[in-house]
Amino acid sequence: MSAIVVEKPHTLAIRDESLAPAPGPSPGEVLVRVRRAGICGSDIHIFHGTNPFAKYPRVIGHEFAGEIEAVGLGVTGLSPGDHVVVDPVVACGHCYPCRIGRPNVCANLEVMGVHRDGGFRTRLAIPAANAIRISPEMPFGIAAMAEPFSIAANVLSRTGVSDTDTVLVYGAGMIGLTVLLAARLSGARVVVADIDDARLARAAAMGAARTINSRATPLAEAVADENDGLGPSLIIEAAGAPGLFEEATRIASPAGRIGLLGFTATPSPVTQQDIVKKELTIAGSRLNRKLLPQAIGWFESGRIDPATLITQVFPAKDAAAAFDLIARDPASTVKVQLDFAD
Ligand code: MN
Ligand code: ZN
Repeated sequence: MSAIVVEKPHTLAIRDESLAPAPGPSPGEVLVRVRRAGICGSDIHIFHGTNPFAKYPRVIGHEFAGEIEAVGLGVTGLSPGDHVVVDPVVACGHCYPCRIGRPNVCANLEVMGVHRDGGFRTRLAIPAANAIRISPEMPFGIAAMAEPFSIAANVLSRTGVSDTDTVLVYGAGMIGLTVLLAARLSGARVVVADIDDARLARAAAMGAARTINSRATPLAEAVADENDGLGPSLIIEAAGAPGLFEEATRIASPAGRIGLLGFTATPSPVTQQDIVKKELTIAGSRLNRKLLPQAIGWFESGRIDPATLITQVFPAKDAAAAFDLIARDPASTVKVQLDFAD
């Protein structure tokens, strides 16, 4: 039994917990034996000390699936042996956003692997409400992709998407690709922009109608002919680079919507006139509001195959090598997973 801990920025340790008693579960919790976990950009940010919410030391990881080993008092509907994927969003249930169905922006939000210890660990106890039962036939590696796809589900639920849309996705990294795949389910035309040709080639292979290297071609010019010359009707910012929000307000079509995922703190000088004149809708999107089941449904129906995004799987004990690969050669990776074998 082990846990992958960021002791402090730039220091990754594998903590041997084999002699520690198995934790919990407390009343209302379940004990999960983690089998597979995905490494996310936000784990990398915690490692590099650039996540403003992280406290150290921290067991990271918020994309994980496994088996229930024990259930706490009062838990109904889940039993030992059940296979589950975990929604990392822990909300209070009482505050205003929780009461209106927006637990992902709970005033007392705790995200596993960020504000509280996460899933890069052989065993952990979690609130039973965060465990979503999956079919025992679904591979754990597939189930662990539900959280990243829930990010796409959330932003598209915030903005809406339909077959009348011309979508521009900024960023062909993991999140941009999930948005591409999810938006295509509704029949939208999806254009993907990035500055890396290898990433753009992946987007093209996954069904982007068009890809644009925005370093080679000014994006505003490149998309001006889209949507009968009005520009994209839906723009999703999944690149996290400063300045894209401002550009999006300029190039969006009238009645367009803009969904923002990047957590940049750099101010962006938008012109209110663009927003009012075109009656743009601007939506922030954070984490997900109970949308992992929607992603699992996409996988089970075969409408989305997340296996195409899993580029590498490392044994959990080699987590340092996985982090090193992502730092050294990011374009060779989309989703890197850790396997927690016996
Ligand atoms: Mn993630
Ligand atoms: Zn709350």
